[in-house]
Amino acid sequence: MEKGESSTPTLSEDEVWAKLIPTDSRYSEIELRLKETVICSEVKHSSSEKQDWCKITRNVDLDSAMMQNRSLKEILVDETVVQEEHAAVIKCGSEISLGPSDEGYVKYRFEIMPTEESRRYIQIYLDVEYAKCCICLNIWHDVVTAAPCLHNFCNGCFSEWLRRSQERRSSVLCPHCRAVVHFVGRNHFLHNIEQDILLADPSLKRSSEDIVLLDSNASIKSPLVLSSRKSSRKRERSPSDAADRWEHSCPQCDTEYGGYQCNESTVHLQCQACGGMMPSRSNVGVQQHCLGCDRAFCAAYWHSQGVNGSNSHPLCSPETFKPIAERTVSRIPSLAHEKNHYEQNITERCIRQMGRSLQDVVAEWILKFDKREIDRTRMPLNHAEMITSRTSTCSECYDKLVSFLLYWFRVTLISHHLAPEDAQRQDCWYGYACRTQHHNQEHARKRNHVCRPTRGNHV
Ligand SMILES: [Zn+2]
Ligand SMILES: [Zn+2]
Ligand SMILES: [Zn+2]
Ligand SMILES: [Zn+2]
Ligand SMILES: [Zn+2]
Ligand SMILES: [Zn+2]
Ligand SMILES: [Zn+2]
Repeated sequence: MEKGESSTPTLSEDEVWAKLIPTDSRYSEIELRLKETVICSEVKHSSSEKQDWCKITRNVDLDSAMMQNRSLKEILVDETVVQEEHAAVIKCGSEISLGPSDEGYVKYRFEIMPTEESRRYIQIYLDVEYAKCCICLNIWHDVVTAAPCLHNFCNGCFSEWLRRSQERRSSVLCPHCRAVVHFVGRNHFLHNIEQDILLADPSLKRSSEDIVLLDSNASIKSPLVLSSRKSSRKRERSPSDAADRWEHSCPQCDTEYGGYQCNESTVHLQCQACGGMMPSRSNVGVQQHCLGCDRAFCAAYWHSQGVNGSNSHPLCSPETFKPIAERTVSRIPSLAHEKNHYEQNITERCIRQMGRSLQDVVAEWILKFDKREIDRTRMPLNHAEMITSRTSTCSECYDKLVSFLLYWFRVTLISHHLAPEDAQRQDCWYGYACRTQHHNQEHARKRNHVCRPTRGNHV
């Protein structure tokens, strides 16, 4: 038997881009760091004499490599013979051996390491004075932007200002320039800048007591429309007419429904699904925000107020935002199993072979979820610990929840429910975090990816 080893000096500053992993654990892995590496083999265990075995050259697509046979024998790549001096393309998951494994030859599996997606940075210089809130004079915290003047404030500072304006029943003026504020929302781009500044100069951070106080005042979770001036004259509405955006009103602006009518200081929320407005009301016991994504949705609110859509006020149908327990699911969400179609098909087949329906399986797992039998650390929703089957979520968040539950359905499945060819697949080391599964069909088919990563820097 022959032992493989890399003949080129390993450079510590170079990253390992691929590995040859022996199927026999008595042999060690060969790490490939250089673009071109000649692999040598010892002729016999005792001898120090070495022979070239093969040369592996990384292809520019970073997705495959060329393997050239430098030995005096045939090399097998995925059971295909590669003659002396000939070359073959190898991909992640390809198996290379000097001869048939039943004759005692070691087999190596070629694995390409997932690469960090190349990030693009632009360095900018910024006067931190521009990143300060004019109410508290500190660097913004959870920055919100007021429109149309586009001045920026801490969420907590502006929320407090908003509350006091509403108490006075006056229109909301910008604390900085006194312009009437029609709209305020969190600014995610500036939020990143806010965090970069504090990272660069920690002395600008404020005390944790200040932060707690600010956060407790902060009430702006999704874009707020502060004034809805009603247009007296009929005008054609076109999306390009920016002024018209502030003239949209909600059904309760015009008419009293459920014993409530908006007034001029009513704060409105904009529904993320239909774009319509609803009054922001914290004391009616109806969810106006999806707990999973913190965005506003109108369906549950209008349902509770007995308001149906009309031509002048298109509203969302109740289906778009309702409790998890009342939803139905007819197909596996495209997000499931990290969008890996092979795994989605396996799950579908498996449910069919068990004689069950997807709805039935999901309902069973929602029950386990409610009983807190499932670890929620990797659940891709906000406020994961607060969510129950009575929580209303938007359709997107529901799909995320179903995908999360289907992961648990699969990892706890007894293997005899899987087709034999699916059950015998080995787990990919990178598990659900594997990137190769998205661009290498062969790899996605050969390895199981509904499992935890056991290698790499994945959490
Ligand atoms: Zn502030
Ligand atoms: Zn302003
Ligand atoms: Zn209204
Ligand atoms: Zn809506
Ligand atoms: Zn949501
Ligand atoms: Zn939240
Ligand atoms: Zn993989």
